[in-house]
Amino acid sequence: MKKLCCDVFILGAGAGGFGACYRLAQSKVKTVIADVHEGYGGTAVFSGVSCFEPGVSLDGVHRIIAEKLLQNGSGEVQRSIPSRLTFCEKKDIGEFIEPLVSGGYLWGLSVPCQDDYESTLKRCKSLCPTNKSWRRFMMDEDALTKTMSELMEEYADYVTPLFKTRYVSCKTDGRKIKSVILENEAEQIEVVADYFIDASGSIVLLRDAGCQYEVGYEGDISKVNGVSVVLRVSKDKCPPLQIPYDEDISAWKQEKLSRVVSCFNMYPNGDININMLPTLTGKEYLELGERAYAVGVCRAVAYWEHLQTLHPELKEYSIKKIFAAGIREDYRLLGKKVLKTEDIMQGVKPDEPYVAISDHALDSHGIEGMPCGEMQVPYGIPLSCAQAKEFDNAFAACRGASFSSTVASSARLTRTMMSMGEGIARYIAKELQK
Ligand SMILES: Cc1cc2nc3c(=O)[nH]c(=O)nc-3n(C[C@H](O)[C@H](O)[C@H](O)COP(=O)(O)OP(=O)(O)OC[C@H]3O[C@@H](n4cnc5c(N)ncnc54)[C@H](O)[C@@H]3O)c2cc1C
Repeated sequence: MKKLCCDVFILGAGAGGFGACYRLAQSKVKTVIADVHEGYGGTAVFSGVSCFEPGVSLDGVHRIIAEKLLQNGSGEVQRSIPSRLTFCEKKDIGEFIEPLVSGGYLWGLSVPCQDDYESTLKRCKSLCPTNKSWRRFMMDEDALTKTMSELMEEYADYVTPLFKTRYVSCKTDGRKIKSVILENEAEQIEVVADYFIDASGSIVLLRDAGCQYEVGYEGDISKVNGVSVVLRVSKDKCPPLQIPYDEDISAWKQEKLSRVVSCFNMYPNGDININMLPTLTGKEYLELGERAYAVGVCRAVAYWEHLQTLHPELKEYSIKKIFAAGIREDYRLLGKKVLKTEDIMQGVKPDEPYVAISDHALDSHGIEGMPCGEMQVPYGIPLSCAQAKEFDNAFAACRGASFSSTVASSARLTRTMMSMGEGIARYIAKELQK
């Protein structure tokens, strides 16, 4: 088996993993990063999120990315129009859509505006009393992953990326993780490191190493935030769609199809991003296991066909991409500190060493009995939420960090996770210098 030695190993090259990797590379820390996908970006790229939601963030690599995307026209600051549509009754939509059609923004729920990137960095009520001043940053996902790779290329001496490579197992010794075993089509690789950052979203490494974790709202898995199979539709000529799945979704169609709520965001090139809220409930996703994605794709395509029937204008568009399942929530670490709603309600405390800040809403996406609503003030995420209780050299830099499910519904956003990765990296780089 091939063996690699480094200072830090990162599992997952999504928002948190990329943020950590970029900051470690800047501090000249030898890092190996592995991901099953073929590049950087994780959910933001391969599940088609393609958007930084409005929200405060510490300064960091998100700003460098945004500047590059703005420069080459593949990223755009956008103004929100009320953010959700229910396609239950055509007449509601007709009224809603009219101003968009006449404004030339057919179907867009966020549209380009002249404001700068700074305007996207706030959301809570004390900073934006009404959602009319929310600004989001919409981008092309291919341009995002390309930009991330280009930024990392500058640090090729410090970073070894292993793409199309999956986690297999780990070796531990007392309070330390010693190495991980990975595999790809060509080989198995053992990576030995001083520090391990689990940025896999679902804390694959930390769970396997034996860390305590949790799933669901107060242990209730019927209250897990939903999964979306996002579509990108376009007026470009797209090759006819081949769907390799044939799941029976008739019961869902009858019961749910006409009541799906979704977010429509317009890409800088005019394509439309359709994000069902959700395609599968979190419980369905966990219970369906390997079949979940196939069911999700069949539902997403059925929804698209339904939209085209309701609104013949949409027949000008066809599906350009069906993204990988977008998971909002599954396993969460029970780390040194579990960040809870009562903590974040107190807001950012001066002089507290935070790895990230956020002010996004508590967003259960309509699950009954779960707290939901806008934050009044920004709050901080302390390092202890990233630290495993069981190991001294293991951290979670992803949505599966040590948050209660309610806090996770707010903290999991792309920029927050990127920033959390950067904060953890700064801490590790300092420790390595000691
Ligand atoms: C449908 C949807 C819409 C969203 N909309 C927005 C939005 O508009 N704005 C916003 O800011 N946020 C949004 N979010 C939230 C945000 O995009 C994600 O929560 C965030 O990107 C997660 O980052 P992460 O670093 O935690 O994980 P990810 O970005 O998911 O990264 C985890 C990486 O780990 C890799 N990995 C996992 N297991 C293994 C393994 N066994 N071996 C190797 N690699 C592995 C994965 O391939 C992945 O690349 C949305 C999320 C979803 C699902």
